Amino acid sequence: MEENKSEKRMDFIREKITEELKSDKNGGKLLFRFPPEPNGYLHIGHAKSICLNFGLSQEFQGAGTNLRFDDTNPAKEDQEYVDAIKEDIQWLGFNWEGEPKFTSDYFEQLYAWAVQLIKEGKAYVDDQKADEIAAQKGTPTTPGTESPFRNRSVEENLELFEGMREGKFDEGSRVLRAKIDMANSNMHLRDPFLYRIIKKSHHKTGDKWSIYPMYDWAHGQSDYIEGITNSLCTTEFEVHRPLYNWFLDQLAEKGKIRPEQTEFSRLNLNYTVMSKRKLLQLVEEGVVNGWDDPRMPTISGLRRRGYTPKSIRNFAEKVGITKRDNVIDVSLLEFAVREDLNKTAPRVMAVLDPIKLVIDNYEEGKTEWLEAENNPEDENSGSRQVPFSKELYIEREDFKESANRKFFRLTLGKEVRLKNAYIIKGESCVKDEDGNITEIHCTYDPLSRSGSGTEESQRKVKGTLHWVSAEHAVDAKVNLYDRLFSDEAPDARKDPETKESIDFKTFLNPESLQVLEGCKVEPSLKENKAGDNFQFQRLGYFILDKESTSDNLIFNKTVGLKDSWAKKK
Ligand code: ATP
Ligand code: MG
Repeated sequence: MEENKSEKRMDFIREKITEELKSDKNGGKLLFRFPPEPNGYLHIGHAKSICLNFGLSQEFQGAGTNLRFDDTNPAKEDQEYVDAIKEDIQWLGFNWEGEPKFTSDYFEQLYAWAVQLIKEGKAYVDDQKADEIAAQKGTPTTPGTESPFRNRSVEENLELFEGMREGKFDEGSRVLRAKIDMANSNMHLRDPFLYRIIKKSHHKTGDKWSIYPMYDWAHGQSDYIEGITNSLCTTEFEVHRPLYNWFLDQLAEKGKIRPEQTEFSRLNLNYTVMSKRKLLQLVEEGVVNGWDDPRMPTISGLRRRGYTPKSIRNFAEKVGITKRDNVIDVSLLEFAVREDLNKTAPRVMAVLDPIKLVIDNYEEGKTEWLEAENNPEDENSGSRQVPFSKELYIEREDFKESANRKFFRLTLGKEVRLKNAYIIKGESCVKDEDGNITEIHCTYDPLSRSGSGTEESQRKVKGTLHWVSAEHAVDAKVNLYDRLFSDEAPDARKDPETKESIDFKTFLNPESLQVLEGCKVEPSLKENKAGDNFQFQRLGYFILDKESTSDNLIFNKTVGLKDSWAKKK
């Protein structure tokens, strides 16, 4: 990647790693991991974790990052998600060490360790149902109650656990628990579950297993198996750390790398929901058109919306890595893509709500090809030719018959410049029987062409309009997107009277998608490919949608040129 590494901001994790290297911890070895559960598509929150974990292995020489699918719950996981996750990480510009890893690759080893714990009297099969066990948990200030099955013999435990594995028992009828301390002030140490019975086919192991390890049991041990040095996770796992360490205390061998868990704050964005459960709900209920709907905060949705990998990496860097939880303004994300596209996206002309403009004194049938700069921010971007003729389209809202002095667009009797072309003057307009304007007539100053070097070409007029030639323009469909939610905290509102949570879908923005048919765009756009980004002059940034073809152009709006929400607050 082209970023200057020395400019990377230091944060507490990078400082800690630098210290560890100085003290030669783990012999200078650094191995990180990114451990998604393949139960949904990755979202912008995951991107923060990806940029951290994979970014570190690019910054520290000889370091690596594993991609490990935490596939411990067959009820919710799917190969589709595995594939999408890999694609998204690579699209962001990162690579994992070797082949992707799967927690399910370690099921046999995890089982063997569970048997070891049973033999050492540190784990037992509990025949109670989950709700009975929950009722015995106690509270942070009162100790829990020991299960009546806690002191079963090792032999009985081994036999029952094997029976669980072999599928002899029903789902929910038994669990394997670690035998730690029912009075510990940390609730996670009150005999946590290691295994539950799930009789569902797993996307990798099929029907081989009837028991599946819990997150806490699988996670740290998988880190240990892989030789992970630094296990970086979000702060909600801070209270799990003593359990992470308890398991390692029982199982880790001397002389082997012992992973260390460090927590950082998760990314929260306003106007956004980020729980995979809620995102799945939006997809399943058809509120959006799939996981990659451009309104979704998923990486695939952002990609289809026109976000670039670089803009997302820059955003993650700006947000930074801290310990304290906070909510980031989504306008920072929008700023990041605007900033990147400003440097890279070619400027083109497109008219979204076209109205015919006829130049009365321009020669019938004539076409001039005028030079248009591709990107004033990028001197290597060159220029292209755009056709100009007697009949053009301009934006309907760019004309008023008469207007006050603050209206810097076209009115009757006033002059404006057509971008890259001539100065025109409004002369008259044609209306239908309902009084709607159907056509505007103007005259042009033939000496005023931009770049022609004449005195008239330098003449300053108050406004500049974008336009396309009617004869040459290409039809396009344009999807205008706006924020999916119109409330800052859609999944955190409570009814002031009942104090009950309000369904997040109450706050869906009814104007999050507006489809415009019959837009007119300049002909050069026919030659582009899906995924190309543009600035439609004066309108914002747009991307050619993945379903677009040269006969059926479809653009998605990424963001406007300015933050349109700033003034609403
Ligand atoms: P969800 O709660 O939405 O289901 P999750 O945390 O369970 O998300 P995982 O697939 O387990 O999803 O996440 C993989 C990794 O991404 C974890 O290490 C997790 O900490 C990290 N991650 C998930 N959400 C965020 C977030 N909002 N900010 C930073 N990191 C995140
Ligand atoms: Mg998780």
